[in-house]
Amino acid sequence: MAAENMAVTRETFDDVILPVYAPAQFVPVRGKGSRVWDQQGKEYIDFSGGIAVTALGHCHPALVETLKSQGETLWHTSNVFTNEPALRLARKLTAATFADRVFFGNSGAEANEAAFKLARYYACKKHSPFKSKIIAFHNGFHGRTLFTVSVGGQPKYSDGFGPKPADIVHVPFNDLAAVKAVIDDHTCAIVAEPVQGEGGVMPATQAFMQGLRELCDKHNALLVLDEVQSGMGRSGKLFSYEHYNIQPDILTTAKALGGGFPVSAMLTTNEIASVMAPGVHGTTYGGNPLACAIAETALDIINTPAVLQGVDVRRQQFVEGLMALDRELTIFSEIRGKGLLIGAVLRPEHASKARAILDAAAAEGVMILTAGSDVIRFVPSLVITPDEIETGMNRFATALRKVFNA
Ligand SMILES: *Cc1c(COP(=O)(O)O)cnc(C)c1O
Repeated sequence: MAAENMAVTRETFDDVILPVYAPAQFVPVRGKGSRVWDQQGKEYIDFSGGIAVTALGHCHPALVETLKSQGETLWHTSNVFTNEPALRLARKLTAATFADRVFFGNSGAEANEAAFKLARYYACKKHSPFKSKIIAFHNGFHGRTLFTVSVGGQPKYSDGFGPKPADIVHVPFNDLAAVKAVIDDHTCAIVAEPVQGEGGVMPATQAFMQGLRELCDKHNALLVLDEVQSGMGRSGKLFSYEHYNIQPDILTTAKALGGGFPVSAMLTTNEIASVMAPGVHGTTYGGNPLACAIAETALDIINTPAVLQGVDVRRQQFVEGLMALDRELTIFSEIRGKGLLIGAVLRPEHASKARAILDAAAAEGVMILTAGSDVIRFVPSLVITPDEIETGMNRFATALRKVFNA
């Protein structure tokens, strides 16, 4: 059957896709800015941003232009050859951060896999092969490869896949005493998200981040910050670590880096990079010219005062809207997060209703996310308009009134 004649619907998903997701009941077919349309032509306001990925909205003209022009120029050469977009993007990322060196991948998990391998390798080469302990956090999320899911702090994602990589210890997030109790000179790295995303939109406290930095320095361990979700302007700074007055040793970023095109990066210093040599790590697609050209355009737009300073104004509009809804319906115990990574925590008596709220919101024409069973998560475009926020909030309010029979 010719592709253009093949009718596919949401039901097709249940026939042909590996059942690891439970997607919403509609199929988006088109997007523009923060609006999306489904197969029936119904319009949605997008507060989900493709899970913090489409930071410039859907089909941003500058990204489309780069996709087209680079698409007619050069897509892929492999890492046997370097390319101009990767070199330019690396220059810009290092100029904008603590870092001197960049490794490109295609997903957050790959950037983290590279980061964890680098931390272990650095400790092995510079200190001892026994300096391999990684300290990570309950509810942390770092991706779905076996190493990254094992560093992640939710056993339900790592159980059942056979033996896990060893020497990984998990302690409660924002609990410095718990870290102190397990860190020692055999620790090679502490791995943390500055704002836990999947784990419930939980920001690290200033004292915690500062404390992690000091503990790493004391024990010659590396501070690895996973900014796959919290980075690229999401917090109102280019990277969230800038809020804390500390610098990491290794940082990973993905999601919004390509504005919707798959690309990730691991950033580090010259000192740490010095242990690597050709052949120690690699990837076929990582750093391909098409992905890097698009990411360069995304970075050029996001890393401007206009976009970064606009984040807090938009956050304010969201928070005010959510607080008004709480005054009316008494459903949230807390609104938390940083910038446009916003978590509305359901009160304990409504803790299991997050998925029902997501489905009701979709029915009213607004796309939202959950983070765990009791948090509603909003990670919209960083350039969503006040009008789009208002329209989406009104639809969200209608959905909540239906769920809570108000
Ligand atoms: C989404 C996410 C990842 C995984 O990224 P993928 O592109 O899905 O591999 C890793 N860490 C954090 C903090 C994330 O939010």
